[in-house]
Amino acid sequence: MAFDVSHEYVNIPKDEYDELLQKLKAAEVEKNKLARELRTIIKRNEIDKLNIETHAALNKIITGEKQKQEMYVRLLLESCPDPMFIFDDAANFLLGTRSTRSIIGIDDISILQGRKLDSIVERYCPPVFTEELTSLVKESIFSESGTKGKKYIEVSTETSKYQVTILPFDKDDGEFAGVLVIMHDITELMRSKEIAEQASIAKGEFLSRMSHEMRTPMNAIIGMTNIAKNSHDAEKKEYCLDKIAGASRHLLGVINDILDMSKIEANKLELSSDTFVFENMLMDVTNVINFRVEEKNQTFVVTLDDTIPEHIHGDELRLAQVITNLLTNATKFTPEGGTITLHAKNIPDPENGPMLQIEVADTGIGISPEQQSRLFTSFEQADGGTARKYGGTGLGLAISRRIVELMGGKIWIESELGHGARFIFTIRYEPGDAKPRVKRVVSKDGVRILAVDDSPEVREYFTDIMPSLGLPCDVAADGYEALHLLQNQSNNPYTIFFIDWQMPHMNGIELTREIKKITMDNAIIIMISVAEWSDIEAEATQAGVDRFISKPLFPSILQNCINECTTPSLEETGLQQTAILQNNRNYHGQTFMVAEDVEINREIIKEILEGTGAAIVFAEDGREAVTMFAEQPDKYDLILMDIQMPEMDGYEATRIIRSSDCAAAKTVPIVAMTANVFREDVERCLAAGMNSHIGKPIDADMLYKTLGSCLSPKATGADFR
Ligand code: ADP
Repeated sequence: MAFDVSHEYVNIPKDEYDELLQKLKAAEVEKNKLARELRTIIKRNEIDKLNIETHAALNKIITGEKQKQEMYVRLLLESCPDPMFIFDDAANFLLGTRSTRSIIGIDDISILQGRKLDSIVERYCPPVFTEELTSLVKESIFSESGTKGKKYIEVSTETSKYQVTILPFDKDDGEFAGVLVIMHDITELMRSKEIAEQASIAKGEFLSRMSHEMRTPMNAIIGMTNIAKNSHDAEKKEYCLDKIAGASRHLLGVINDILDMSKIEANKLELSSDTFVFENMLMDVTNVINFRVEEKNQTFVVTLDDTIPEHIHGDELRLAQVITNLLTNATKFTPEGGTITLHAKNIPDPENGPMLQIEVADTGIGISPEQQSRLFTSFEQADGGTARKYGGTGLGLAISRRIVELMGGKIWIESELGHGARFIFTIRYEPGDAKPRVKRVVSKDGVRILAVDDSPEVREYFTDIMPSLGLPCDVAADGYEALHLLQNQSNNPYTIFFIDWQMPHMNGIELTREIKKITMDNAIIIMISVAEWSDIEAEATQAGVDRFISKPLFPSILQNCINECTTPSLEETGLQQTAILQNNRNYHGQTFMVAEDVEINREIIKEILEGTGAAIVFAEDGREAVTMFAEQPDKYDLILMDIQMPEMDGYEATRIIRSSDCAAAKTVPIVAMTANVFREDVERCLAAGMNSHIGKPIDADMLYKTLGSCLSPKATGADFR
């Protein structure tokens, strides 16, 4: 029975529930009795026998049923989310769902009852009842019955979009009764569709751009490999290899960007934290882009606030990634001979901790305000032609923004089309020590400097930096001005000259010869240039150049250089340090085990390690590495461990080696050498007991650096028990 519901499921007191149940049962019994009586009366055709009570009971049931029906209709009208209107065959409003109130803009729709459609439209001007919809509804009502049928129309208002169905309906006798107008709000649906379509277009464009970005260097790699293979000319082979190296680096950059972006999209980009030397990080970055600056003959100036601490605590690699991206863009979008400046400043904030503000400005093509608003979104470039003309994935700035935000800062652009661009970002940092970065020059007695450079930015740099080192400094824009200044110094001559190599009228080497003549070989000449020293070394040293500094100029390099020039003992120390650094690559008498399953990778690593003098022994998987180590644990001075290998991976092999029962197991340095380069990959390697991690493709310099740190006395003594 319908009311056979256990008391546990209803929310009224037990006695009331029992009473209700009784009543319902009685009503049901009564209804069944009445139904039986009626059936008998109808069967016997004894209508006159219907007594007054039966009539009353029957009426009660009929009224009850009617009320029930009305209640259902009301429920429908109240709860239906779609606005629905019913008009009769004379276009009078009959009924509407509750949601029609928002369409008409009134609280009580009962006041519309009996009003004509036209008068409602005229009085309330509901935006959705456009002329087109109103006349379509009227047409459905007043047209010949033969042309009546379901009609659909889409109506847009300023804020919404509806799909409207006009549904004619008939009475029981088949006569036309009126129309039901159903309005389905499709605003959100259309928006989602649009977003999905845009996403699909962006994805399509992205795939085609990526395909282009990846195929172009692949084409160069394959093409140049073929040329090199078929050529017998050593110089040509060298040329091809250079091109292959460049294209491979570019391809690696594209792949890294895509991987970073997919991490960002999955919300999985995380920062690591370590203490690093801020200025060294900047030098590494500038080394990476210097060749582009040189290629385009651009001026590149780096200035740093003295108050930036020497060591700062943070994610060095990610910070370098942002700066590299901005500098790469700056060189890319600045024509030949343009100027790029990088300025880093410290912004103290006692409440929230100090902030670094880094600004990369260029004199390039600039960006319009409309383009600026889109550039930090993935895959966006300033305009459609950018990809064709300059290449690029359109991911760099989106990645940079995410990194900067994770570092607690923000990034923005100041630019005008045709007038260069200025990208500025801030990050919060923890000072690694309290020492200011710039130290005074050790010995400055009698030191006077003349800096000669045709770039006003470089001259300004010298005028700013030298006073902070405690040194008097003049500047000259070319060789003639320099000679003029020099000839007018009688009693207090310049002792150190910083001279740009490439200058109009008289280049740096010619000027050096003149100065050496005038000063009778007494002045110290330091050549500054973006060019490779090896390109000019022979001519420059013959002309009397004493030292060379690569541009952009960093305060600590200038300071060290001046110290070395003025203090012979320091110079010697400098030389010793260089010698020690070079020695770091010398591992004669040592044995390295390399666990690597891929043959070509074994070949590459063998080639890279060959110059170190160490003996190389290969294991072809993790299990073999473990066995080889167990057989002769003291044989190996270092283990380079690939991670993904058949039989046993690098993690497990490391764990087994570390847990073996011999002294070497705890101390032998194990370096992961893997293409898994994300932060958690590095952490996993360290957790497995490895000392360090280098990413594939292997960068030879990085490998030497890592060897240097792992095989230093301190690291070698590390204990992993
Ligand atoms: P990519 O350089 O790989 O295209 P980015 O996200 O680094 O990707 O840059 C997006 C776009 O921003 C570039 O394609 C370019 O249109 C514009 N842009 C970035 N930096 C500069 C700049 N210094 N001058 C002019 N336009 C720039």
